[in-house]
Amino acid sequence: MSFDNKEYLDILNEFICKSKDIKRFNANAIKPVITPVCEHLRIAKFTSALYETVADPALSGDGSHIYFDGGNADEARYITAEANAFNKGVCRYRIYQKQGDPDWNEEELQLIRSFQDLMFIFTERAFLLKTLQEMPVKDDDMGVYSLPFLIATIKSVIDQGRIGDFGIVYFNIRRLSALNENLGREKANNAMKAFIQGIQKELLFEECVCRLGGDNFVMLFRRERTEKLRSYLSGTPVFYGSGNETVNISTCAGFYLIPETVENPSEIVDSACTAYQLAKNVYKRPYIFYNEDIMKRQKHIKMIENAFPSAIANEEFKVFYQPKTQLNNYMIAGAEALCRWFRDGRIIPPNDFIPVLEGSKAICTLDFYMLEHVCRDIRRWLDEGRDVVKVSVNLSRVHLGDDDLLETIIGIVDKHRVPHELIEIELTETTTDVDFKELKDIVNGLHEQNISTSVDDFGMGYSSLNLIRELPWNVLKIDKSFLPTQAENQDPSKLKMLRHIISMSQDLGLECVVEGVETAEQVKLLRDCKCFLAQGFYFDKPLPVEEFEQRLDGISAC
Ligand code: C2E
Ligand code: MG
Ligand code: MG
Repeated sequence: MSFDNKEYLDILNEFICKSKDIKRFNANAIKPVITPVCEHLRIAKFTSALYETVADPALSGDGSHIYFDGGNADEARYITAEANAFNKGVCRYRIYQKQGDPDWNEEELQLIRSFQDLMFIFTERAFLLKTLQEMPVKDDDMGVYSLPFLIATIKSVIDQGRIGDFGIVYFNIRRLSALNENLGREKANNAMKAFIQGIQKELLFEECVCRLGGDNFVMLFRRERTEKLRSYLSGTPVFYGSGNETVNISTCAGFYLIPETVENPSEIVDSACTAYQLAKNVYKRPYIFYNEDIMKRQKHIKMIENAFPSAIANEEFKVFYQPKTQLNNYMIAGAEALCRWFRDGRIIPPNDFIPVLEGSKAICTLDFYMLEHVCRDIRRWLDEGRDVVKVSVNLSRVHLGDDDLLETIIGIVDKHRVPHELIEIELTETTTDVDFKELKDIVNGLHEQNISTSVDDFGMGYSSLNLIRELPWNVLKIDKSFLPTQAENQDPSKLKMLRHIISMSQDLGLECVVEGVETAEQVKLLRDCKCFLAQGFYFDKPLPVEEFEQRLDGISAC
């Protein structure tokens, strides 16, 4: 077979020039570049395979790439060449003869071998370029990776369809400033370094830790290691000095077990970051796992916090009045003011927003707003010559600790010239000593001002009999959980407790109101227990002001 060396050199030259532009050595990019060479050397098919890789199981096996296929390969006649492919394992090329073609002569074989060598060089170069691009910018101090490297790793795992095997965690070292103070900056730094190294030395393939700055880290980890990692991050003793001294390092962490359908690396990091923020600021826990419920709740919290100031300014909160009924004659003896939020054409119930507002001082604004509106209504009723009953207003425990609380309450009541005996303040039980002292001050202060106070939801929390004995309360509101439902009528202990609480409160001179009365049987039962006051749907739901006014007008009609 005659061979035109000059022509082949031109072809090879062109191959070398074009190969340099190939950034990624995949079949699509390579095929047009090697086709002229293959045709010239009577090559029918050129395949490449990575196998026996040490680090990357996904690349192992025989899954070969076809770089060129003229469509007439003789599958039995080929030559093979192998070389180490950077650090990715072994790369094997297989070059096939054409069907019916005479065997390659010595000269052709030599050229083919040198072409294979060139291909190895270019493959190696492409691997190197790729690795350089993704090179971890290492943190000098800790030897951890940079965020772009973490993102590139996540992207590569997504591309391979294996992201569902991974989780991501965003964490922050807890109490680092205290550590700095106690150990000194250098030793505290050593401790943090040792803690991170403890993670790094266990890293599996494709796991990586990245430092975002300061004491904030993100880590991509294999799912099966979630529990181990959670436990490590929850608290691990590390050495920090030259001796044997150890210090316990713990973190606040947000975990996200990545669903296999997620395709955006930034979204993955963001989700872990959100979980961390929630763990730190909202749930105040050492760690939480991101899930849909948490995200919905977070959205809800944000919506309420953002909407609250304008809702107050626009008077979107309305007072509803739920009558308290005398059980001997079903007359209204009083009412409780309950808040309803009218927003975008629907009513939001208090349990949806009060707990959120209790996360900040916003609840105090709402409580004073409610008191103000109740006083305004009472003033108007008095001016209109209506029969008026005492109205109780709920006050959150968040108020305890506010030195001006008593003054503010009295200021609002007096501003509207409402007689003090028409106002009652409902407070719930407290558990801590500090709260107890503050509760005592406020109940005493209101008592001196002739403003009634009631223990709300008695029996719900850790009821303390001392709380009732030591403070001059006027009313005990027994929580509905003490009221036997139909199914529980056979439970004698519940009924006995209810009976004794009612009689105890009366013995102590407290008015006793049972909340949540829904059925005629419960009314009968309360009468049997000699309870005189009840509040519940059996009599009335919380009513809008106009309806409540009709009920008030009914008093004078009787
Ligand atoms: P609470 O102070 O114990 O109020 C009684 C709750 O029981 C009210 O729920 C009332 O609608 C409900 N209720 C009354 N009768 C029945 C009944 O027969 N069956 C049942 N299942 N429930 C009954 P609401 O209005 O949803 O308020 C829930 C809680 O939100 C209140 O419990 C109170 O703790 C809080 N809240 C409401 N308004 C305010 C407010 O202006 N300030 C503060 N700080 N808390 C408020
Ligand atoms: Mg109440
Ligand atoms: Mg209650």
